[in-house]
Amino acid sequence: MKRLALLALLPCLALAQEAGPPAGFYPPPPLVPRALEGACPDCGGSGKADSKYGSGITDSRGERERLRVPCRRCQSTGRRVRPAPLAERHALQQRLLVAYDREHRAARRMPVGAGFMEAKAEAALSPEARADLAARFPKRCDRCLGLGEDECRKCDGTGVRVVAEERRTCEGCGGSGALPCRKCKGSGLAKVCSRCDGRGTVEVKARREIPAHTARCRSCDGDGRR
Ligand SMILES: [Zn+2]
Ligand SMILES: [Zn+2]
Ligand SMILES: [Zn+2]
Ligand SMILES: [Zn+2]
Repeated sequence: MKRLALLALLPCLALAQEAGPPAGFYPPPPLVPRALEGACPDCGGSGKADSKYGSGITDSRGERERLRVPCRRCQSTGRRVRPAPLAERHALQQRLLVAYDREHRAARRMPVGAGFMEAKAEAALSPEARADLAARFPKRCDRCLGLGEDECRKCDGTGVRVVAEERRTCEGCGGSGALPCRKCKGSGLAKVCSRCDGRGTVEVKARREIPAHTARCRSCDGDGRR
């Protein structure tokens, strides 16, 4: 329990170490963690469980009265952190991303890496500053949505295979039900742009009255990934 609470804090700590994102930038939704909190399955979220001993009191019909005791599995919080299957995390990530995308496109903000930015603030960025920002919030793989995982096809993501009526840990994924994403090889990131080698910028040679300068790579729109 304590270890999981700490893990949930880690992304916040990592962010606190760096300078915050610039004004007008809206970071992408966080990645859905491997473990999710939900109602405790033992007590149905009530935090109280039936004692197996009963209360020792019988009612008028001669039935033992139920004795409710604090649920031990969830320490009466009614909540439990459990490992979440990839399919569930993927669906949740998709919902978060769709809502995030809709909100910022409706406000006519501009995509920068995996995030969005107020159009005026984005237009004011130099090609280099824009590329730096996109590298800090890199564009994610559209197959795994940044999770870096694919469902194991040998066990359909369950982590278990039934062989000769015997339940066995799936040898394909070691029981996790997931394998590294085939598209991004597990990085969770979109492919590095080959035109600019991931820099997001290109050097433009001097031509007539325009001096040599650094410009936004048109292939990746300055993201360095596409
Ligand atoms: Zn419980
Ligand atoms: Zn991927
Ligand atoms: Zn498997
Ligand atoms: Zn590029």
